[in-house]
Amino acid sequence: MSVTAQSVWNNCLEFIKDNIQPQAYKTWFEPILAVKLSENSLSIQVPSKFFYEWLEEHYVKILKVALTKELGETAKLVYIIKMENTYGNKQPFTERIPSSNRTAVKAQDVDIPLNNKSPELRNPFVIPGIRNVKIESQLNPNYNFENFLEGDSNRLARSAGLAVASKPGGTSFNPLLIFGGVGLGKTHLAHAIGVDIKDKYPEKTVLYISAEKFTQQYIDSVKKNNRNDFIHFYQIIDILIIDDVQFLSGKTGTQDVFFHIFNHLHQNGKQVILTSDKAPVDMQDIEQRLLSRFKWGLSAELQSPDFETRVSILKNKLYRDGVEMPDDIVEYVAKNIKSNIRELEGAIISLIAQSSFNKKEITIDLAKQVVEKFVKNTKREVSIDYIQKIVSDYFQMDIDTLQSKTRKRHIVQARQLAMFFAKKLTKASLASIGSQIGKRDHATVLHACKTVDNLSTTDKQFRKYVEDLSKKLSV
Ligand code: ADP
Ligand code: MG
Repeated sequence: MSVTAQSVWNNCLEFIKDNIQPQAYKTWFEPILAVKLSENSLSIQVPSKFFYEWLEEHYVKILKVALTKELGETAKLVYIIKMENTYGNKQPFTERIPSSNRTAVKAQDVDIPLNNKSPELRNPFVIPGIRNVKIESQLNPNYNFENFLEGDSNRLARSAGLAVASKPGGTSFNPLLIFGGVGLGKTHLAHAIGVDIKDKYPEKTVLYISAEKFTQQYIDSVKKNNRNDFIHFYQIIDILIIDDVQFLSGKTGTQDVFFHIFNHLHQNGKQVILTSDKAPVDMQDIEQRLLSRFKWGLSAELQSPDFETRVSILKNKLYRDGVEMPDDIVEYVAKNIKSNIRELEGAIISLIAQSSFNKKEITIDLAKQVVEKFVKNTKREVSIDYIQKIVSDYFQMDIDTLQSKTRKRHIVQARQLAMFFAKKLTKASLASIGSQIGKRDHATVLHACKTVDNLSTTDKQFRKYVEDLSKKLSV
């Protein structure tokens, strides 16, 4: 049998496959193509510079062993970075020949047709000086639909996500806004949509970014005087995913630039996916024109998962990690940790760790100890009823008075304080707080929060109220 690049590489792969985790093999080795063999040097093609760096950092030893077995001591591995979506001139952007004879890198480019001829695309993800760069999607392949379990709490958001993934830009869910409390799966779902799109439409440019990083990049671009490059970069994205947009609150410059990018993408049929810890009506200090854009598409809420969903999330995690655990223990954990999937996973992980480090069997008692620590460490959420009771006791009035329509100053203030603390200490929306505290609307609650903020900086007596009540309400 003649020796070809393919046959040499296949033998290497067989060896590598036996020696690393299946997931890692799939992620880092399956995408590689063997392209050329000349004497003792094998050229493999990898999809990005990042990929090359990752291989060099994590798998260089095993690659060397495998290749030496095939081609002898003088074996050489050459990486060819074949990038999708590169842009600009055709010179290789980097050539790296390390001092050892082990690796050499040569980059090749492929042009993507862009409708304008601007000479250079500045990619804020990349250190300046490197010219032709593929836009890395920044997606985490571990956050996919397969391991995003379905339940009543996430059905709408999940199916909207799937719809968007199968027809990005082509549904009325544009933008798709996923909102919900901490640890309920916003980031996971946002990545899953991106990962699925990448899978179905490899030619599309997908980009995931947190609103925080987006803001930093924007500020940098202003400093460096290349705000237009920043905008231009974002305007060529096909699917833009921005996580935690509530972070843009109060940042008018960033909101402004995002507004322009959003309009451009939307007009061109590109898909925008956003996540937020609040519903649009409850977002504060976000410009109205931007808020109204958020409402153009679909806002889908992720709610706290019910018991069954919590059990299946845990079981799925255990299964994926190859750990066995008795059902009653899984159910015990699911029953006691309710509001946050991240904590749910955290509790199971520490349970596994406890049992393996201390060589203890996983028992209900051990589960109780672990769960107790979790429940204690996480601040218990106070209820709006409880807040109303504490506030009315403090001002020596009853709850009916607190909720009444009167405009007497001290009652109005008590009511405003109750609203303020409800906003601060619960995850309830402004609308829901309003309806629970004397059937007011969300604007009244918003006004109350602002008034309390103002008064507590200008009025000493009032500040004392806030401090006293904070102490009483701290759990
Ligand atoms: P958020 O961004 O809303 O704070 P994350 O997306 O970071 O929450 O989710 C927290 C953790 O819970 C992650 O490890 C995620 O994988 C897991 N998770 C959330 N929802 C689900 C789900 N439906 N199925 C499986 N795991 C989930
Ligand atoms: Mg998140």
